[in-house]
Amino acid sequence: MSLRDLPGVEKLLQTDSAVRMEALFGRTLTLQAVRAQLDAARLIVRQGGTTPNSEEILAQAEAMLEDWLSPTLQPVINATGVIIHTNLGRAPLSEAARQAMLDAAEHYGTLEYDLAKGKRGKRNVHCEGLLQKLTGAEAGLVVNNNAAAVLLALTGLARRRQVLVSRSQLIEIGGGFRIPDVMKQSGAKLVEVGTTNRTHLSDYEAALGDRTALILRAHHSNFRLVGFTTEPGLKELTDLGKRYDVPVLDDLGSGALLDTETYGLGHEPTVQESLDAGASLVAFSGDKLLGGPQAGILLGEERLIDRLRKHPLARAVRPDKLCLAALSATLLHYLKDEATQAVPIWRMIAASPEDLRVRASDWAQQLRQGDVIEARSTVGGGSLPEETLPTWALALSVSKPNALAARLRKARPAIIARVAEDKVVLDPRTVLPDQEAMLLKILQAML
Ligand SMILES: *Cc1c(COP(=O)(O)O)cnc(C)c1O
Repeated sequence: MSLRDLPGVEKLLQTDSAVRMEALFGRTLTLQAVRAQLDAARLIVRQGGTTPNSEEILAQAEAMLEDWLSPTLQPVINATGVIIHTNLGRAPLSEAARQAMLDAAEHYGTLEYDLAKGKRGKRNVHCEGLLQKLTGAEAGLVVNNNAAAVLLALTGLARRRQVLVSRSQLIEIGGGFRIPDVMKQSGAKLVEVGTTNRTHLSDYEAALGDRTALILRAHHSNFRLVGFTTEPGLKELTDLGKRYDVPVLDDLGSGALLDTETYGLGHEPTVQESLDAGASLVAFSGDKLLGGPQAGILLGEERLIDRLRKHPLARAVRPDKLCLAALSATLLHYLKDEATQAVPIWRMIAASPEDLRVRASDWAQQLRQGDVIEARSTVGGGSLPEETLPTWALALSVSKPNALAARLRKARPAIIARVAEDKVVLDPRTVLPDQEAMLLKILQAML
């Protein structure tokens, strides 16, 4: 065999399969893939291997094209029971939010246009009014995510000045967000007060000075402070702030609008509570317990929000029209008292153990396999660490549970399950109703 036995690019491109590939993937990529496979074939020949024929080369090229073009961002079925799963995209959106995004994507819209005046309007109006109505806040500002909200607030209000933070709140929430690093980035000077486990109001008071611009309170997010611990309440902090004329920024992280205790969970601080306790500004995510799109929301005093609106960084972290469309639609669910039925993550939180048992039993029956076991779901998203919700799950006993879990991840859509005690465990709580039939079909084929 010699290199001359290999077909040329032009000849390969004239074959029926190459013509079909071109129609599917376009000329440029098809050419690239065919060339790459020819190069690989030449290498094989030089190394004395068996020369692949034209058909083999084209088949390899097609596989390569499929690999290049298959989306890396794919839908999956979340059977983990972690409701706000950051790695799986946090909150799935409500039907109305999805529709609003489609409308905004398809048509021109009033993103920054005032129809009454026939001239330029403001991007910020779309959610601000809804947020004011929902929470009673004086003003609001929506940005790209909560990390950006905190960065903007620190930069806009405290650059070259001091921010007091309790040592018990110098958190890292994962994904590189660490309070001390964000502080550095903002140009604000971090002043640590108190100790890791105990911080008193007097520690804050002792640290207050001419250069203090802000007191920051950060939600502990994914960890819990237990044992011999104390931190001043938000009301005490805001009273102190008022005495010294220093604003308090409350980074709520998840920022619930509904009471998690109704569903047998611990207490997650709500946005309304923070505002009622006198926080000058609260910051929270759009896609954690709010159940909307990725966004960061700042609410609070008009004079502070106004400074942030005008800051150059606000332009760099502004939300796009798709985000604003989905966020408005999500906020409307809360205003209309329909959030627990309409917002998927709240439907999951509110799902009764009995309904979950029925769903898991139904799966077991249809598959004629697996045991229905008591298990625990979690909320996730940095809220309510260590808190769980009782659930019923389908447990599949197989000889190699990790291998089955890996095969489930190879399905399309991929199924993400947990492996616990040598069983593959599937929690119905986080499986969306319209994915259930597909889940069963895939499992049926695999088992
Ligand atoms: C999640 C979280 C953030 C970051 O929010 P993103 O929306 O992910 O940017 C900031 N602070 C706290 C306390 C959080 O829990």
